[in-house]
Amino acid sequence: MNDSAGDTLRSQLQALNEKFAERLNDELTELDQRAEQLPQAREQEQRRHMMFDLHERLHRLAGTAGTFGFTTLGEQSRVLEQRAARWLDAAKPSGQALSAFVSAVRQLVAAERAGSLERTPAMHAERQDAMAAGCRIYLLEQDEEAGQAMCQTLGNFGYEVLLFPEIALLQTAVQGQLPDALIVSQHDGELDAVSALQQSLDAPLPLLVIGHRVDFVSQLAAVRAGAKGYFTRPLDVTRLENSLENILNLQLSEPYRVLIIDDDEDLAARYSLVLRNSQMLVETLSDPSQLFDVMRAFNPEMVLLDMNMPEFTGIELAQMIRLNDEWLRVPIIYLSAETDINRQMAALLKAGDDFITKPISDNALAAAVYSHVQRARSLSMALSRDSLTGLLKHADIKEQAALEVERALRSGKPTSVVMLDLDHFKQVNDQYGHAAGDNVIRSLANLMRQRLRRIDSIGRYGGEEFVAVLPDCPADQAKRIFDEIRERFAALTFHAGARTFSVSLSAGISETNGSASASTLLERADQGLYAAKHRGRNQVQIAQPD
Ligand code: GH3
Ligand code: MG
Ligand code: MG
Repeated sequence: MNDSAGDTLRSQLQALNEKFAERLNDELTELDQRAEQLPQAREQEQRRHMMFDLHERLHRLAGTAGTFGFTTLGEQSRVLEQRAARWLDAAKPSGQALSAFVSAVRQLVAAERAGSLERTPAMHAERQDAMAAGCRIYLLEQDEEAGQAMCQTLGNFGYEVLLFPEIALLQTAVQGQLPDALIVSQHDGELDAVSALQQSLDAPLPLLVIGHRVDFVSQLAAVRAGAKGYFTRPLDVTRLENSLENILNLQLSEPYRVLIIDDDEDLAARYSLVLRNSQMLVETLSDPSQLFDVMRAFNPEMVLLDMNMPEFTGIELAQMIRLNDEWLRVPIIYLSAETDINRQMAALLKAGDDFITKPISDNALAAAVYSHVQRARSLSMALSRDSLTGLLKHADIKEQAALEVERALRSGKPTSVVMLDLDHFKQVNDQYGHAAGDNVIRSLANLMRQRLRRIDSIGRYGGEEFVAVLPDCPADQAKRIFDEIRERFAALTFHAGARTFSVSLSAGISETNGSASASTLLERADQGLYAAKHRGRNQVQIAQPD
């Protein structure tokens, strides 16, 4: 973290702490008064009611005080909260227990006021530095020929690959400049040295391992060295490249989006600050009736939910989110002072995925949220990606097209939609077999990924039909790009046994104009494609606006 960012964060945290301390003062006064009044209540029902109120207040204090550094106050409040709960649960609560409880509460308030309770300075979440853009890969491979071949293939995908025939050279290079990822082809004993290398670094490098066998021992060794992917020979380079894209994407991709729902605005503000400091995008919601609007507008990848709010319970909100399939992939995590495992389990049976128990240190909160969202995102990616090509699936590219078209309408920047189809592909399958056909589809996907920008979206729209969405790119520019892709693709030679063949493609392009919807643009791009086929294939046509 650089100094000025660190100072800003510290002063923001400081301001939140001061705000809490002020509010705490009022809360302690309330607590003290209510405890004092409790024994004066004549009727049992009124007493229960007052005890219930005290229980609520202690519960809240147990959750918040620790977060803001009032450690002992938080812990003691929890103990008293449990005593209140026992009193409320008892069939015949005793008057003696009541007066002992009242004096314990009042003593706690007095001790806090006297400053005799222990406080710990709140921790600061360390900012995770984003990796620099650009993809430099170090490859450890003894076999010179295999190494060169891989450098060349991965080079075609746009990676900068440096080949090292032995670990010592790799070590020296890593000390000079860290790569974005490391690929290790395992011959004998390399993984121990790689483990040692990983341990000598501040953070382990993303690692892919190419091993001999798929067995328990080899994969355990790979995992211990920090492997994020495991491959065997003969190497499926497309799969390896996909995996590389995944691990690099995770680091270079958009920040995680987290929604915090808590009626305590100060607490929500604090959590939000901590998560923002870990490069996440955070929205807070204190009025749960806005839930669906905020979910739709913000599209969170995780919801952090308070359990107890004045008008709604967290469980009810979680159940409501789960009524909607569109948010099935979003984990719901309760942020709660609830430590009773039975009650936690009961809540999780109804809805929700996990508990984070308040109070929680800033670092622990950031780490817990990070791991949940990371998992959710990789699951979501796996679900929305087509397994043959790694591109977006039909529904997801359509959704992406809709998002981009809306964005283009707001920004006024032209966006192009491209619809693409392979020429005479039935004949390819008939003559060379389905597997050879699949290989062609995969190559085109890789070629497009290579040539297009990170902000462009590409999807497999149908069997051998693709859609690309190019934001901030007028149709004539999109045509130049796709003419180049078309030419490069037509120049590729495919192998089927001893025979070789080539395939061409046709494409149609439409451009946003004022008010057109994504589905209109897709239709028009399809008309362009039809025109390209009609005029003899192996060409790109811009669709005329209606
Ligand atoms: P055209 O130039 O008019 O597009 O002719 P075409 O033969 O390509 O016609 P069309 O686009 O209608 O053909 C689609 C063919 O693509 C049908 C099917 O055999 C083949 N196909 C669709 N999905 C796959 C796939 O996943 N793998 C393989 N190998 N072939 C597929
Ligand atoms: Mg076709
Ligand atoms: Mg087709």
